[in-house]
Amino acid sequence: MLHYIKQQLFIEKVSCLDLVKTYGTPLYAYSRNYIQDAFLNYTHTFSVSNPLICYAVKANSNLSILRYLAHLGSGFDIVSGGELQRVLLAGGDAKKIIFSGVNKNEQEIKLALTAGILCFNIESLPEIDRIQKVAKEINVIAPVSFRINPDVDAKTHPYISTGLQNNKFGISYQDTLHAYTYAQKQSHLTIVGIDCHIGSQLLDLTPLKEAADKIFELVVQLKQKGIILKHIDLGGGIGIPYQENEKSPDYADYAKHIAPFFKANPEIQLIFEPGRSIIGNAGVLLTKVDFIKHNQNKNFIIVDAAINDLLRPALYDSYHDIIPVTLNKDLHPIQADVVGPVCESGDCLGKNRILSVQAGDYLAIKSAGAYTASMASHYNSRLIAPEILIDEKTHKIIRSRDTFEQLIQNETPFL
Ligand SMILES: *Cc1c(COP(=O)(O)O)cnc(C)c1O
Repeated sequence: MLHYIKQQLFIEKVSCLDLVKTYGTPLYAYSRNYIQDAFLNYTHTFSVSNPLICYAVKANSNLSILRYLAHLGSGFDIVSGGELQRVLLAGGDAKKIIFSGVNKNEQEIKLALTAGILCFNIESLPEIDRIQKVAKEINVIAPVSFRINPDVDAKTHPYISTGLQNNKFGISYQDTLHAYTYAQKQSHLTIVGIDCHIGSQLLDLTPLKEAADKIFELVVQLKQKGIILKHIDLGGGIGIPYQENEKSPDYADYAKHIAPFFKANPEIQLIFEPGRSIIGNAGVLLTKVDFIKHNQNKNFIIVDAAINDLLRPALYDSYHDIIPVTLNKDLHPIQADVVGPVCESGDCLGKNRILSVQAGDYLAIKSAGAYTASMASHYNSRLIAPEILIDEKTHKIIRSRDTFEQLIQNETPFL
């Protein structure tokens, strides 16, 4: 997706230098082809199990991205009423929406029931009562599934690990039967599936396979109790390479591991909820180098993007590769921290990078499609950066840069 032609960085056939000159910086740019390839990689690799892919909206919730995924046939995994409204507005099919999250409020539940979503992934016993109450009030039957915590160690960053007993997500493995039998007794619920999601950015398949096996065991146990499921949702979490030495897990190997179960149970549909692996490496954040600052024993490359545009390094200590938009063969490389204008020591986008750049150059921060624009904030009263979608030779703005008026529009003078 990213390549150099005559020393200048291109996304597909679009020059990054043209992009920054047209739209300014900081700027998020996404490749539509990459999104398509990543989506089709799922449907092709797991084709024997005929999966429904429910894109995790929180990874990147731009309406144009959602619309494009809906066009490809994607369903959606949502975690709020706001995300539900986005998906519907983008033309997503309500029948392919899964509602996850530990605290869906009554208004959100009502909205989802009225839209007619595929199912709620219930994450606690009291949530059963809440969904039953709302469904009864508006006299509809709520389709439900349980997010089970398979208690496997995803061995990823603690902030993005969700499958162990001591975190807030899901129903404990040993409480599964109790949860299902309790839900079965409710007048306005119908049980449709089972779900797990053990964490994010998993580069090793072992925990994913282990979790799948534990879920398959439960499906068999539930069947013995007369509880027949329509789908198994194995969550998202497949990791992406953020740097040279990282590799995507082998999708075919994962598919091979789970295929026998789905072949033996053809009436059960496989669902995935991928976010990062669809959009993460489809995007870059383009930024301008404003100053090179030499302190006594450290260099800083001061750019116009900051942690409000890209929170991941500050939040998870995560690594994003940073490359120049134009190759400067004649410049002497320096080792420096790439930092933004935000008044926080944590406003560092890359530590100790070796780069050949000078003031006025542009940099591309890679793997910035997922959990980047969707996590952007106005901190330091900075305007949210625009987003561009690239399709072969053309590019379109899919979110314009905030204005100062938008920044303050909901504030009212107190004095
Ligand atoms: C965030 C999330 C996902 C997506 O995770 P990725 O690592 O981006 O694939 C899927 N399911 C649930 C419940 C989530 O919270």
